[in-house]
Formats: sequence, structure tokens, C-alpha cells
Amino acid sequence: MYTHGSGRRTITWLNKVVLAHSGRQLTGLRSIWDDKTGRAFNEKEWSGALAYLNKVLRNACFRYIQFNILHRVYLAPQVLNKIFPGLDASCPRCCYPTASFWHMLWECQEIIPFWREVLIILANISGRPQLDGIVVCLLGMFPRPKKFCTVWRFFDLAILLAKRAITMRWKSHTSPEASQWKLEVIRWATRESNALKLEERRSVRKRQVSHIWDELLNKITKYGEVVTDSN
Ligand SMILES: [Zn+2]
Repeated sequence: MYTHGSGRRTITWLNKVVLAHSGRQLTGLRSIWDDKTGRAFNEKEWSGALAYLNKVLRNACFRYIQFNILHRVYLAPQVLNKIFPGLDASCPRCCYPTASFWHMLWECQEIIPFWREVLIILANISGRPQLDGIVVCLLGMFPRPKKFCTVWRFFDLAILLAKRAITMRWKSHTSPEASQWKLEVIRWATRESNALKLEERRSVRKRQVSHIWDELLNKITKYGEVVTDSN
């Protein structure tokens, strides 16, 4: 723990720099997302984004990832360069000179194809129009009609795993592979399917959910096989 005066000043300065770029202060957080997404979230929408973090996500690991994204905690090269000027501010994947948080997670030319493939696969297996946009993918703000709640729950899992894949390779020179992401979705969705089957004996509703879930799981598994066969 720092007790020396200059050390404490250093920590205070570091905190200011990180907080200025992470938007941790809740008062500024909403306006940062407003600016980035080009829309003004109303109270209900913003509450939805916070509820997604606090209520929808049950897995602690996913909640942690979503919290860090919402608060922009992941430190991008541009931010690290401001803290430690000797560090390179450019993107390790595409060499863009000022790699911001948004660049690393969403805008990098190496990340865009990954997101595109993820969204195309989800659209194909669900038969729903292609999901798109930073609001859906980064904030988890799906339109969530009750009729399709199992489908959205599957999307929640799949998109969280896409964000996890990117953040796990945050400073890597290469972007995540959609094929690897598919395997992760199958692995996690299978685990969830097993949990649903344990619950379904007690409820007709649970049986319906389990059936829909397994259909999506089968489709994404076969989608992977089709891609492999065509290669
Ligand atoms: Zn880049």
C-alpha cells in the first residue's frame, strides 16, 4: 500500500486517467453510451441495460464480462499509452494508431468479420432477422418478446461468449475465430440443456423451453458441420 506522498499522488493521477477513460462514474456512463451509439437512451431503456447486467445474466463470469464492458473497464492501448507513454497506442491486430476501447471491441477491421459471422450464424439458426448493432451486442438490449424468450436466452449466451472470446484475446495480434466460438456455444449450451432437462420433469413450460433450446443447439451444431464439410 502506498503511503509516501509522491506515491499517493501517482495513484491518484492513475485513478483519474483510468476513470476518465473508463466512464466508471455512473453520471457520465449513460452519456458516453449515448454518444457512442448515436441515440439518447430513455430511462426505461437504460434501466433495461442495467437490469440485463444485474438480473438477466445468472452466470457470474458473464456478469463480470458485461460489467466490464458496460463500464469500459478493459484498458485499450490508447488508454494504456496515456498512463504509460512508452507503451504503443496502436491496435495489435490492425495497427490502427489510436486503438480505443470501442476499436478493440467493435470497430477493428479484424473484429468486424468475427462479429458479422457470429450474427449471421445466429440469424440462420433462429430464423429471426439478423441481429445487429452495438446496442444489441454490447449492451444486451434485445427486443425480448415473451414468445421468443428461449431464443433470446440462447442469444444472450452466444453473444456473451463472443464478447468473452474478444476480451480473452484483448491484446492478441489475432482476432478470435468464429469456428472456435461455435464450439464454445455448443459446450455451454449443452451444459444448459442438461440443466433444463433436470428441471423439465416438474413443468410443462420447462419441457417447451428445453425443446426449443435443444433445437437451437442442434442447428448450431449442424451449422458447424456444414461449414466443415464445405471446406
Ligand atoms: Zn484494430
